[in-house]
Amino acid sequence: MADEPTPQTFETLSLSAAARTVWILGAGASACPPYKVPTQLGLLQHIDKMKRTPGSTPELRAEFKGARERLPEWVRRVQPGRDWLDWRVCLEEVFSHYELVHADTENASPEERAEARQALHDLRLAVRAATSVSGRVDGPRHRAFGDRGRERAPYAELVEALLTGAGDHQPANFATQGHAFVTMNYDINLDRCLLYLKAGGLGTTVDYGIPLRGPVNPEQPEGDEPDPAFTLLRVHGSMNWKRCHACNAVVSTGAYHAEIQPGEPCVACGAAEMGYLLVNPSYTRVYDDPAIAAVWRRARAELMAAERWVFIGYSLPAADVHFRSLLRDCIARRRARGLETQVVHVGRRPSPKENKPRPDEFDLAVDAYSALFAGAVRFWDATPGGFADFVRGLRG
Ligand SMILES: [Zn+2]
Repeated sequence: MADEPTPQTFETLSLSAAARTVWILGAGASACPPYKVPTQLGLLQHIDKMKRTPGSTPELRAEFKGARERLPEWVRRVQPGRDWLDWRVCLEEVFSHYELVHADTENASPEERAEARQALHDLRLAVRAATSVSGRVDGPRHRAFGDRGRERAPYAELVEALLTGAGDHQPANFATQGHAFVTMNYDINLDRCLLYLKAGGLGTTVDYGIPLRGPVNPEQPEGDEPDPAFTLLRVHGSMNWKRCHACNAVVSTGAYHAEIQPGEPCVACGAAEMGYLLVNPSYTRVYDDPAIAAVWRRARAELMAAERWVFIGYSLPAADVHFRSLLRDCIARRRARGLETQVVHVGRRPSPKENKPRPDEFDLAVDAYSALFAGAVRFWDATPGGFADFVRGLRG
């Protein structure tokens, strides 16, 4: 086997070095302090340690408690040789197992299929609870151009950098059109940063790539929306969306988490068939929801149009086979048109003090990105601060 080339590293990224950039955000971006959203590896442990019971009504809180009590058993049935809190438990496989049983009309009994449906319900509830965003909606970690003192806020700081070209001047050059976000995450930390830009003196809202009902910006009366500025494409759905299964309307709850009360009617058609709009984190993911399919079409268009793709905190996991296929296809089609694509990876290196029994995520990323993009990828010289350090180092 030939020696693999040394990965190309760099220390600072110049925003103006590309006319169009797509920022692709993975679990590592939202896991970065101060957001600290658990990744798949820490999701069950997070649920186990949660002190607050989520839900605004006694019914919703009881629903969570029931799901929480059943979780260890659902995991044990799929991986009986592991404790349910072992970090090696593969959540994708747990989801996939119950999806397969639920769909198996030939071998699974009606009782087994009903049980699988309950397991999926409980697991989805756990994912929503673990990725929910706590703290004030307009707190410093979400407010671009706000007074944060010494607190870091990489999502808000990234938005500031894009609006100012990483200079100190006020956001006169409103250069949002050259940037689009694609996120693999469910959490709404970035949404909050974008939705509260108005408080920073900018009339703006978010283009999610699909028509939404409901006030997208809670500080903006409905029907009085300014032109969308930033594009945020949520390829796995979002914690602030709910959808009607009768009329297909997607309702946004803006900077707040969607919460569906029993029997809640649709604001568009009145039917009580509301559901959450999240793609399960499984190996057998389904992207056939019309709203999700529309988001993916838009993501393809943005990737095709952008000469630079910046991946932040994203490990290119095998479970994201659809997204990996999209990337592969877009880069080949761009190349066929004579267009080269700059691929940039931003990750973090664990500090020597972190003594976790896990492989070095940066080394794994170098391996995965080099396999998919060969010589086209450059790696930011990762630090233990990761995303937060990268954003501070951006140049105009
Ligand atoms: Zn409806």
